[in-house]
Amino acid sequence: MTYDVIVVGGGITGLVSSFYLTLRGKRVLLLEKNPRWGGNIKTYSDGRYTFEEGPQTILANSPAVWDLVRRLNAPVCKANPSSQLRFIYKREKLIPIPLKPWEFFTSPLVGFKAKVKLLKEFFVKPSQKEDESVAEFTIRHFGEEFLKYFIQPFVSGIYAGDSKKLSVRYAFPKLYEIERRYGSLLKAFLKERRVAPKGELISFAGGLSTLIKLLAEKVKEKRLQTEVLSVEKSGNLYKVKTNAGNYYSRKVVLTTPAYITAKLLGKIFPPAKELEKITYPRVAVVSLSFPKIGLRGFGFLNAEGLKILGAIFVSSLFENRCPPEEDCVSVFLCGETQKEVCRLGEGEILKLAKGEIEKVFPQIGEFRFEKVTLWERSIPQYTLGYGKFYKIEEELKKKEPNLFIAGNFFGGSSLAKCIEKGKKLGESL
Ligand SMILES: Cc1cc2nc3c(=O)[nH]c(=O)nc-3n(C[C@H](O)[C@H](O)[C@H](O)COP(=O)(O)OP(=O)(O)OC[C@H]3O[C@@H](n4cnc5c(N)ncnc54)[C@H](O)[C@@H]3O)c2cc1C
Repeated sequence: MTYDVIVVGGGITGLVSSFYLTLRGKRVLLLEKNPRWGGNIKTYSDGRYTFEEGPQTILANSPAVWDLVRRLNAPVCKANPSSQLRFIYKREKLIPIPLKPWEFFTSPLVGFKAKVKLLKEFFVKPSQKEDESVAEFTIRHFGEEFLKYFIQPFVSGIYAGDSKKLSVRYAFPKLYEIERRYGSLLKAFLKERRVAPKGELISFAGGLSTLIKLLAEKVKEKRLQTEVLSVEKSGNLYKVKTNAGNYYSRKVVLTTPAYITAKLLGKIFPPAKELEKITYPRVAVVSLSFPKIGLRGFGFLNAEGLKILGAIFVSSLFENRCPPEEDCVSVFLCGETQKEVCRLGEGEILKLAKGEIEKVFPQIGEFRFEKVTLWERSIPQYTLGYGKFYKIEEELKKKEPNLFIAGNFFGGSSLAKCIEKGKKLGESL
C-alpha cells in the first residue's frame, strides 16, 4: 500500500494538514504515537467542569482559522468581550494593562522615568543588528521598567520564556519587521493603529478538544498508538518505520516536536540532529475552582511577588466551564524564568498554585476542583541565533523536496499559526 502523504503526529498541525489533504482526495495516512488525538490540546471535561490542560484559546487572527471552523461547522465560542481586560500583578496588586500606548502615561504600571522614556521612543532608529534578544530590544525602545513590568510577563505568558534568551526576530517576527520599517513602534502604532495582532479569542463548546474530535472524524486513514521510529528512503518512496510495521508514501509531513524530528530524520538527513538543541521548558498548568468571587477579564500575568507565571480567568472567558456558583482559573507555573518551581513535584506545585492564587484573591474560601497537568517539554523557545535551525530546514528542502517539517518550532507556535501551516501544506502537497 502506497500513500500520497504520510503525516506524522496527530496534534492540531497534523490533523489540519491531513484534513485538507483528504478534502483534495489525496490518499493520506495520519500516525500518532499516543492513544489520543490532539497533542498539546487536551481538554478535561466531566460534565461539571471543563478545563483546558494545555492551550486555552485560539487567537483567531488568521483567515485559515475561520476557514477551518466553517468547513467543520465547529461550535465556536467567542471569548467574553471583557477578555480585553488583562492585569499585571505588581506590588501585591492587579494593575490593568493599558490598551493603548498613551494610557501608559496615567498607568501605575511604570514610573515617571519610564514614562519620559516612552516619549523618547518616537526617535528610536531601527537596529543594525541581525538578531537581538527580546530584552535588549525592549530596553532600547522603552527601558528596563517596561521590560520588567510589561514585556517579560508577556513573554512568560506566551512562551513560558525568558526575554533575555528569546530572539525578537524569530519569536516576535512582526515586531522585528515593524522596527525595520518604522524604527519607532509608537510611530508604527499611530500609522497602522496597531502593533500587536488583532483577532478574536475563541474556543468551542466543550473546549478545544471539540475541534480535534471534528477533525479526527474527517481523516479516514489514521492510527493511534503508532510510534514512528524513522523515515528512510526506499527507491523513489519514503519508508516510514513504526512500532506497528512499515508504511510507504510519496511525501511525508513531520509535525513532531524538534527533539523527535531530529531522531526521525537521523538516517536520511543527519544535519537534523542539530534540532535537538531547541529547548522546551517544563510548564505546569493547575486547574482550580472556588466559590464565585466575580472574576472579570482575561487573567493576569505576574511581574513580581509571585511564584507563578500568571492565571487565566476561565469562568470569565467562556460560559459553562464550571458550575454557575463557582469561578475557575488555570494557573501557569515553571517555564524558563522559574526553574526552582520546575523542580517541585506535582503535590507541591498544586499547593504552591493554590497559595499564590489566595495571595491575589484572599477572599477565596475553599477550592472545589483541583488538577495538575505537567508538560515536561512545553513550548519551543525561539532563542537568539535561531536562524541556524531555519537553515537546516532550507537544506532539507533542497535535499528532500518531498519531506516537510511542519512542527511548531518553525514559523510560530500559536494554534493559529499551526492551523495556517497545516492548511497550507494540505492544500499544496
Ligand atoms: C501548556 C501550553 C499552553 C499553550 N497555550 C497556548 C494558547 O493558549 N494559545 C495558543 O495559540 N497556543 C498555545 N500553546 C501552543 C500550542 O498549543 C502548540 O504550539 C500546538 O498545540 C502544537 O501543535 P502541533 O500539532 O504542532 O504539535 P503537538 O501538539 O506537539 O503534536 C505533535 C504530535 O506528535 C506526536 N508524536 C510525537 N512523536 C511521535 C512519533 N515518533 N510518532 C508518531 N507521533 C508522534 C505527539 O504525541 C503529538 O500528538 C500552548 C502550549 C502548551 C504546551
